[in-house]
Parts: sequence; C-alpha cells; structure tokens
Amino acid sequence: MKREEFLQRAEKLLRQRRDELRRRVGSGISELQSGDQGNVQDHADAAAEDEFQLFMCSFAELGRHELAEIESALERLREGTYGICESCGKSIPIARLQAIPTAKMCVKCQQEWEKRKASGGDDEEEDEFAA
Ligand SMILES: [Zn+2]
Repeated sequence: MKREEFLQRAEKLLRQRRDELRRRVGSGISELQSGDQGNVQDHADAAAEDEFQLFMCSFAELGRHELAEIESALERLREGTYGICESCGKSIPIARLQAIPTAKMCVKCQQEWEKRKASGGDDEEEDEFAA
C-alpha cells in the first residue's frame, strides 16, 4: 500500500473512531446524570448504582484519553506530520501505524521512552495529562 493511500485510510478510520468515542463518552456522561434521578430508596440498588457510576467514570475517562490521542493524530494528519517520529524525525513504518494509528514515535524511540519512564526520569508523561 502506498503511504499516501494509507494516510487517507488512516484519516478516515481515525475520524470514525473519534465519532464513535464522542458518542460513547457522551452517552456515558448522560447515563451518569440520569442515574442520579433513579431509584434511590433501595439500598442494594443504590450500591449497584454507585459501582456502575464508578465504572462509567473511569470508562469515560479512558474514552476521553483515547479521544485526545485521536484528535492529536488527526491534527498531525492535517499538518502533514502524521507518521513521522516525534523523537528522531524518521518515518514510522506503515505496519506500526496500522497496529497503532495514534503512534507518535517509531518502535525504537518508543522503547527508549518507555525505558526512561520506567527508570523514573523527570520528564514523565506530563503532556499526556495536560490535554
Ligand atoms: Zn524515532
């Protein structure tokens, strides 16, 4: 597959995934809101409701995180920097992008980054949570 062809497909896939996540994260939040007006009188139900809300919270959080990754990948596609390693500036192989469409680094740099992170370097994943 040619790179340009792949980039077009990647953009389409990322957009689909983004829309799907937006719907899911959105419905997760409205479930949470409507859950408040539910049957509060039953204690067993209320406990189950609490667990469900906790689950929905972390689920929505995960979704939001992935959504941010996808938005940033789409931005790189627009800017023409998608598929280029943020660290060494080399092209990320298509096979890797197919497996991880939001990959920002080539395998080598990713491994080095993870090693740095595991050894407790001071430049941890700050930008990951700033979004
Ligand atoms: Zn690299």
